[in-house]
Amino acid sequence: MAGESAGSFVNRLAHANGLELGDLLSRVGEGPQPVNPHLPALAELQVNRAALDHLAVLSGRTVAQLQLALSHLEDRFLLPEDGQACWKWPFRVQEWHLVRCCDLCARARGVDEATWLVSPDRWRVCLRHRRFTDADRGRGPAAVRLETLPEVMRAHAERLRLESRFGAAGAELFADAFQVVTRWWERTPDVWSWTQRAWGVGLEARELRTAPLVIYPEAVQMAREMLRYEQQAERTRSVRASWLEEVQQLVGGWGLEGVEGWGELVQWLDHHSRPAPAAANRSGRRGRVLAVGHSRLAEPSGSLSERSCMV
Ligand SMILES: [Zn+2]
Repeated sequence: MAGESAGSFVNRLAHANGLELGDLLSRVGEGPQPVNPHLPALAELQVNRAALDHLAVLSGRTVAQLQLALSHLEDRFLLPEDGQACWKWPFRVQEWHLVRCCDLCARARGVDEATWLVSPDRWRVCLRHRRFTDADRGRGPAAVRLETLPEVMRAHAERLRLESRFGAAGAELFADAFQVVTRWWERTPDVWSWTQRAWGVGLEARELRTAPLVIYPEAVQMAREMLRYEQQAERTRSVRASWLEEVQQLVGGWGLEGVEGWGELVQWLDHHSRPAPAAANRSGRRGRVLAVGHSRLAEPSGSLSERSCMV
């Protein structure tokens, strides 16, 4: 599966051949045995070049095919060569997340067992099958069904439109908006609409995994407001003041008047007070570049928090 973690793939390969995970890995190379069968859900497998060659033979694919589909098998992630094929499966928190693949997407590809994808963020939405999946391994459901939350589906579709229309700038504005609204959720998770959304899909309102799901509609609305501000030719004091006032009204309408979140908005305005130089914008709308202050603080790729200037 494209974007699958190496460990998830090897786990499925073992089972497809009637083997336990550890048995297959012993054919891939030297590594710490016995292998915990829960590892594919929790951490990522690492191999060296010789072990990757073995894996290619065992799976009937070329190394190039494996590296194309499974990004963590790319050369830059390989373990150093030490004369023999070896692998490691370090049990620790890594900088990326293993997010459960939507089961229906997997089934459409002929895959019947649990599969994990590598993702810069802790969660994903499948628009086709209306599923929310994440890196949570708690007692809750592996996938949250979104049929009863059409506003979350709409929000996700709008985020994708924003990103396809404005490219990196659209993605970064969503990241900013998401960070701002997440902070508000952290202070006031009990906003009625957020609580209702959580309960509607059987999640606890104050659970961390709940946040991205319940704040999604507001995060996208906030991104739209931020885009409107970024598109202003002038960023005078009065433009800034009227934007702030309009956004405060909008946020009040969400039932968030008690959140005292204006600090975040002012901080965001400060980072976005100077438009990007005209030269950077010359390549047209898709190449649009965000304000100087944003670019100085945010990474162009990575997780939502890395792409945001709201550090
Ligand atoms: Zn799906």
